[in-house]
Amino acid sequence: MLELSSDQRAFQAEVARFADAEIHPHVREWEEAGNYPIDLFPRLGSLGWLGVGIPEAQGGSGGGPIERCILFEELSRASAGVALGIYVHAVLAGGALAVVASGELRDSMLPGILSGETIGAWAYAEPDSGADVTRVRLSAERDGDSYILNGSKLYITNGTIADLVLVVARTSGEPGSLGGISVLAVDGDTRGLTRRSMDKLGMHPSELGELHFEDVIVPAERLVGEVDKGFRQCLPVLSQGRIYGATLALGLGRASVDAATTHVQAREQFGGPLTGQQAVRFTIADMTARLTAARTLVYAAAEALAARQPYDTEASIAKLVASEAATWLAERAMHLHGAQGYMMESPVQRYYRDCKIIEYGEGANAVQREMIFEAVARGWRP
Ligand SMILES: Cc1cc2nc3c(=O)[nH]c(=O)nc-3n(C[C@H](O)[C@H](O)[C@H](O)COP(=O)(O)OP(=O)(O)OC[C@H]3O[C@@H](n4cnc5c(N)ncnc54)[C@H](O)[C@@H]3O)c2cc1C
Repeated sequence: MLELSSDQRAFQAEVARFADAEIHPHVREWEEAGNYPIDLFPRLGSLGWLGVGIPEAQGGSGGGPIERCILFEELSRASAGVALGIYVHAVLAGGALAVVASGELRDSMLPGILSGETIGAWAYAEPDSGADVTRVRLSAERDGDSYILNGSKLYITNGTIADLVLVVARTSGEPGSLGGISVLAVDGDTRGLTRRSMDKLGMHPSELGELHFEDVIVPAERLVGEVDKGFRQCLPVLSQGRIYGATLALGLGRASVDAATTHVQAREQFGGPLTGQQAVRFTIADMTARLTAARTLVYAAAEALAARQPYDTEASIAKLVASEAATWLAERAMHLHGAQGYMMESPVQRYYRDCKIIEYGEGANAVQREMIFEAVARGWRP
């Protein structure tokens, strides 16, 4: 089991306190409004939490993969929808700028992301480009000192509220190849970019949008990484994102186990608490075992990343196991709550709705299974 250092434990307690006091009491209201509490971006920025895992030399707050896992797990325990918005902003948009953007672009764009004054989004998915990342069609054609973007993006978290959208675009070649795909940092209010909110099953406080680009002009210096290679250069950010995406599942899993345990201890049927039934006790035991296994895998992948050891396969396994565990845990928590869990006032219905997307996002689990098999075929062993 992972041993956190005393600094890491203190950070965990600080984030948990914040989540309990500043997020948890408002979740129902934010769920119903379906609007992201955008003041959280500058608040977390002023606490230095948007820069966790980004080097101090780049304006970040230092810390590493374990601290990032702690942050997202604790935020997700209170609200996975809130954690998702911060995750996309800090890990995907912030990560691509910190790791891949040229010094000049990074120095002009990253400070706003780290302070939370600029809200970031990462726009990869398209109507025809989902699990298969090679199908990107949105075109960016060079025209003098600019690129002209045409096409659509779908299911973009923060898409409707973002000041800065990192757009994955095809600068050459045909759909079907990873080469020729670049990344451009586009201001959310650029002429020709229209955005529409999308309604979804869960993660309600997070904003989800469809983005339409019609002759959107973007200066060539907004290329994140090299032309035709930017997306490939961002792949490590996405692989690492699997670990942090998995922590969203851990937060939901912990919330499910906590809620189920509290409920079966309090609810009385057949002359005593539900814990009097062995089947109930065993369900809580199985839930705890599966959560612990998932958590161990996620933090082991983060430790491998922190130690600069190979982490790709570990990240895929962690994401696969944690996301499917979260779905199972939420379903069991609902089950143990009976009718109460089916009511909108019960938080467990929210865990049940929120968890499913983690199986598709950050590289669909089908793709993780392919990558794990390829690693095993090459000789990778646990
Ligand atoms: C709430 C939410 C937030 C999102 N946020 C973002 C965001 O911020 N930025 C962004 O770019 N995208 C975002 N997405 C989209 C996400 O990137 C896509 O869901 C993901 O890329 C998978 O694509 P898809 O959903 O179109 O699934 P598809 O590609 O249509 O796949 C559907 C299913 O087909 C099966 N399948 C696919 N490929 C295989 C295979 N090789 N082998 C076996 N089975 C397979 C799997 O069961 C898979 O789940 C978000 C989506 C949601 C719902």
